Amino acid sequence: MFWKSGNGAGLRLLSQPSASITYRLTLLYMFSAGIILLLAIGFLFYAFVKTLEENNIELLHENVRNIREALYRDPDDLTALNRQLVTGAEPQFIKYYARVLREDGSVVVATPDNGFALPYELFPQPVAAGILPEKAMRYRTPEGKKFLLVAAWAHAGGRHMGERYLVQAALDVSWERSMIRRYRLKAQFIFLAGILTSALAAIMVARRALRPLDDITRTIRRIKATQLNERVTQSRWPRELAELATSFDEMLNRLEDSFARLSQFSFDLAHELRTPINNLMGEAEVALAKPRTVEEYQEILASSLEEYRGLLRMIEGLLFLARADSSDIVIEHTRLEAEQEIRALLDYYDAMIREKRLRVTLCGTAAVFADQVLLRRVLNNVLSNAIKYTPEDGTLDISITRQQNGTVCIEFQDSGIGIAPDELNQIGNRFYRSELSKRLDPKGAGLGLSIAKSIMALHGGSIDIKSNLGAGTCVRLLFPSTAI
Ligand code: ATP
Ligand code: MG
Repeated sequence: MFWKSGNGAGLRLLSQPSASITYRLTLLYMFSAGIILLLAIGFLFYAFVKTLEENNIELLHENVRNIREALYRDPDDLTALNRQLVTGAEPQFIKYYARVLREDGSVVVATPDNGFALPYELFPQPVAAGILPEKAMRYRTPEGKKFLLVAAWAHAGGRHMGERYLVQAALDVSWERSMIRRYRLKAQFIFLAGILTSALAAIMVARRALRPLDDITRTIRRIKATQLNERVTQSRWPRELAELATSFDEMLNRLEDSFARLSQFSFDLAHELRTPINNLMGEAEVALAKPRTVEEYQEILASSLEEYRGLLRMIEGLLFLARADSSDIVIEHTRLEAEQEIRALLDYYDAMIREKRLRVTLCGTAAVFADQVLLRRVLNNVLSNAIKYTPEDGTLDISITRQQNGTVCIEFQDSGIGIAPDELNQIGNRFYRSELSKRLDPKGAGLGLSIAKSIMALHGGSIDIKSNLGAGTCVRLLFPSTAI
């Protein structure tokens, strides 16, 4: 991983690309195909060799059985014996040799072979008459020929009843080696072909499966701050990627929304700054238009000071909101009596309340676990609105209640100007003010409720506003039970 500076676009973090998915998938496919093929070929080879062995021993058994039968019928019938020696053998494919010996070692009959140069003593111990040898003995001649040898006793019948004959049979299995070699060659070919086919299949599957990612990449490349309306879910995605595409689109929705709000905010900010600055410029121009008395200058400066204060309040409010947005505000939770905090504020606004002849009531009591400075700020913003936007002789009823789930609700119900239904959903957006309130209080910045919303969110609570135009507004602050 290393840092690389882009062409003036700041620093970008680049990381070493790891092996491609196609490459990994190909390796995985080849590996699994290799294992499956090895197992299959190995099993087939084992079955093939086993069948060969069984066939060979079966062939030898059959010959021993036939010779025994012929001997039992009549050991002197050499023609019948000779016939038995050669039947069962398949000379074009397998070379088979046999001989019948008397107990003294003299040969009664033997296959007409040239190459049956296997001495008697090479053969295994003969099995008793009546049973068949379970296994054949393997023998390899110095020239490299391979044989399977069996020996068995046979009873004579007829005139020779009671006599025993020795049957020795041999099967030339040298051909097996070339057959196995051919099998091995074919197996190697199948193995290689299988591996290559699986690699090709893996490449095709990976390319096909990853094609949608190329589409996403192309779409992402098209996205710029000024062009956030691109969406990737327009095409049909495979199930595994559909979720990614949807999440990506959701992220774009959020980004688009944030960008829209940001540009709206910049626009509103410029607009809000323009009025006080225009006022300040106007006052300065009037002051400079002709020579003034000291009192006149003082009056102009006092008026400018008021504008500066308004600007400062706005800047402080915006700074607070920016810090709250970036979670840069540390909250010190304390147990606070809501009633006490509200009474202190009512004392502060006492003169104004008296001047407007407002009837204010406060009932209920509950403790909230909140940051004292922030709680005072939120209560002040809501209370000052209620006082500001309620005409003379109006009422303001404040109640503090603890709900069954532990939530503490502080409600401010005034009989003020109210808010029109079409404006209500915009109230609380930065700088938004109803037309009526602008007339009533031209100095308001439209930030008080935004700040109250942020503070309530910081405490895990919420703010909710209900209003009827001309009939009054009800603002409820809800503090969660966990914060108590
Ligand atoms: P400031 O930033 O000085 O508080 P403000 O009071 O106009 O200015 P907010 O407190 O954010 O801004 O209120 C936003 C708007 O919501 C107000 O301008 C007003 O239109 C409306 N509003 C808020 N409280 C009430 C209320 N109690 N009665 C009627 N309208 C209200
Ligand atoms: Mg306000």
